[in-house]
Amino acid sequence: MPRMREATNDEAIEDAAALLARSRHVVALAGAGMSKESGIPTFRGEGGLWTTNGEPPMNQYQTFAADPKRWWQRRLEEPAGAFGQALDAAQPNAGHYALAELEQLGVLAHLISQNVDDLHRRARQRSLTEIHGNRHWMRCMMCGRRWPRLEFPVDPEDLPPHCPHEDCIGIVKSDTVMFGEMIPPTTLRRCSEEVWKTDCFMTIGTSAVVYPAAQYPADAAARGIPLIEVNPEQTALTDLATIVVRLPSGEALPRIVQAVRRRLESAGDGRERA
Ligand SMILES: [Zn+2]
Repeated sequence: MPRMREATNDEAIEDAAALLARSRHVVALAGAGMSKESGIPTFRGEGGLWTTNGEPPMNQYQTFAADPKRWWQRRLEEPAGAFGQALDAAQPNAGHYALAELEQLGVLAHLISQNVDDLHRRARQRSLTEIHGNRHWMRCMMCGRRWPRLEFPVDPEDLPPHCPHEDCIGIVKSDTVMFGEMIPPTTLRRCSEEVWKTDCFMTIGTSAVVYPAAQYPADAAARGIPLIEVNPEQTALTDLATIVVRLPSGEALPRIVQAVRRRLESAGDGRERA
């Protein structure tokens, strides 16, 4: 089944563009590699925060659930750590904008991101599932409604914050999925639906070790769906990939999109959305 062949990056980019241009429901999975190119430290791998500082407690969610008021007090009192500061300063890079452009061209149907940094949204990606949540959003634990953090003022005198919706009494937390917390079922359902519909799957800057996200490309490949991998390094998915572009996403994606655009234009494909 693996059909990987040795190709130069230039060839792989053209092959990827040809495949993308003729596919009808492309789904992409983006991982920490994309954020890293925007200056956000990764957790795993060489120089990663966890590699350097040790893994965080695996019962974060249980700590929150046991005493949400205390959790919120700490959150409001403690200054943002190095990771938080890097996230707040980060800007979308050329790779983020290229994915948004691929969506505008009518080629990329859906993006599943493992990143919590809001950079896809800020690059104007529309069809997006943030499988680990979004650090700049808040979420009601009961009804699942979400709000941008800046539109949801938290009163330090009235903690924990509660859902403002009149028929809900849920506690509100950061949208980021904590260790020990279940990914919201609606999120998982959306991902499964998109992966089931896909006829071309693209992985970008992900080492595909974190489940359930890692399952999606594996499932697609098991169904014979062609897989494009964009990653400067070899990963667990490389052997499954039909096409491998061994470049950082900020370099590879704009070139792939340019090649897709050229093909659509020469084919007179009117897929581009207004
Ligand atoms: Zn609610």
